[in-house]
Amino acid sequence: MIASKSETLYFIYGPPGSGKSTLARRLAGLLDLPFMDLDEQIQASAGMPIPAIFDREGERGFRQRERVALEAALQSGRGVVALGGGALLDPTSRSLVESAGRVLCLRAERETLFERLGQEVGTRPLLGEDAGWRERLDALLAVRAAQYHSFPLSLDTSALNPEEAARQAQLKFGAWRVSGMGAAYDVRVVQGGLDALGSMLRARGLEGPLALVSDSQVAPLYAEKVEAALKAAGYAVQRVVIPAGEEHKTLETVSHLWEAFLAARLDRRSTVLALGGGVVGDLAGFAAAVYLRGVRWVALPTTLLAMADASLGGKTGADLPQGKNLIGAFHPPALVLSDPATLSTLPEAELRSGMAEVVQHGQLADQALFARAEGGWEAMRANLDETVRRAMAVKIAFIQADPYEKNIRAALNLGHTVGHAVEVASGYRLRHGEAVAIGLRVEARLAEALGVAEAGLSGRIEACLRGLGLPTRIPEEIDREGFLRALRVDKKNAAGQVRFALPERVGAYRVGVTVEMDFSELLTI
Ligand code: NAD
Repeated sequence: MIASKSETLYFIYGPPGSGKSTLARRLAGLLDLPFMDLDEQIQASAGMPIPAIFDREGERGFRQRERVALEAALQSGRGVVALGGGALLDPTSRSLVESAGRVLCLRAERETLFERLGQEVGTRPLLGEDAGWRERLDALLAVRAAQYHSFPLSLDTSALNPEEAARQAQLKFGAWRVSGMGAAYDVRVVQGGLDALGSMLRARGLEGPLALVSDSQVAPLYAEKVEAALKAAGYAVQRVVIPAGEEHKTLETVSHLWEAFLAARLDRRSTVLALGGGVVGDLAGFAAAVYLRGVRWVALPTTLLAMADASLGGKTGADLPQGKNLIGAFHPPALVLSDPATLSTLPEAELRSGMAEVVQHGQLADQALFARAEGGWEAMRANLDETVRRAMAVKIAFIQADPYEKNIRAALNLGHTVGHAVEVASGYRLRHGEAVAIGLRVEARLAEALGVAEAGLSGRIEACLRGLGLPTRIPEEIDREGFLRALRVDKKNAAGQVRFALPERVGAYRVGVTVEMDFSELLTI
């Protein structure tokens, strides 16, 4: 009996030739999960190839064997399973599979299917061996069309190579495995996922006692729900609440966390859970990095900004009065779980603020996401789940390629060099994302002035950000000296020079650009 949908069990379904096995194998590799090909399992257990099973036992016998193989896959609870093209025609099998894990149904143009299958005639029992296989495929597609179209998750593989198809499948499932900084960790986007947190921790062998760190705004909304899920899985958990707000992202708060961990008797095997926005994640992650020389932590981001950005990449830390994030450690989480359902309580201004990071990610590497952001606030708000998945995919690609920011990850500083300085100089009156929005426009203007960016880019970026209700100009009352000081002390400052990541156009950028200029000009650019 399978209790609930597992976020470690994925099924790939679709017509013959849609690429199920190839995609499932690659996806299993990317997610570090076992790969299962249901048809291969059936052949192995029957000791004969599928056409022979059809000859001897007919389709009925084959379907019987298929059901047995399917049940074994369900029991394992982990893996990426390539299903046979008719494996879910039986409603009982379908409902079993859909309640145990998630199904992606592949599609492809008829001509693509013909082309791919033309090379395999003879190995597909329902298509036969003679020249009439095309007609039989057409007939099979016609009969199954409604079923293939009835799955909520689908992917057309016609124009995708196997690598691209696997990446698209990750985007559809909201599932990644991030490596490159010590131990690898899973990232999941699951609507309502906080309710399954206990079993997710158990599935990954994470131990208690647990400390649930949250802030004074988020704890009253979600801590009880999370604690219930953890207790149901047998965990002992101690809640630790810190005051909400960037002004509390201090070493004093970190010290308070360490004391609370000691009082809760957290030992080296324990896990710290960070339930909240980027402030909670940065602080709890940093406290975990240093407590007893490092304990594990799990990120449970509840703001768009933390989902799209702060929870990924293993950067943790605290601010000093002289500047943001001047103290910190690289300490990757053991798991990141984004539950977009939590965004329903996020104040609108915070949601808008998170959109700045989404725009930045789109601007860097997902033109479709940027184009959607250009569609304005309502369009973006209408599909937050997809926004979160797309934005997370961009950040993950960067941190995978360059975990320690030696080169390409520095692209993620786009808009942040000026943004951080504006944020500090505003005395944190501006939200992080609002400051980043200003930074994105100012840096795009700078890039245009330097001839790095194509003409008109800053206007396009400004229109996009305004459409999302974000500020784009440095406020006139900003503390000028504070801005310049913060810019110079910024951690991207190397050998006395400020290094910028600058845009060239949507989808292209340059990193490590040093600029000879009077930085006070940025205040009026
Ligand atoms: P935040 O953590 O201060 O959250 C914003 C506000 O929203 C807070 O008042 C919080 O209590 C409230 N809130 C959070 N989730 C809520 C929910 N679901 N419902 C209702 N209220 C909710 O700020 P943030 O914007 O999430 O993060 C900003 C911080 O993240 C900054 O300190 C920034 O430096 C950091 N950051 C870190 C990284 C990194 O790589 N580590 C990257 C980007 C930003």
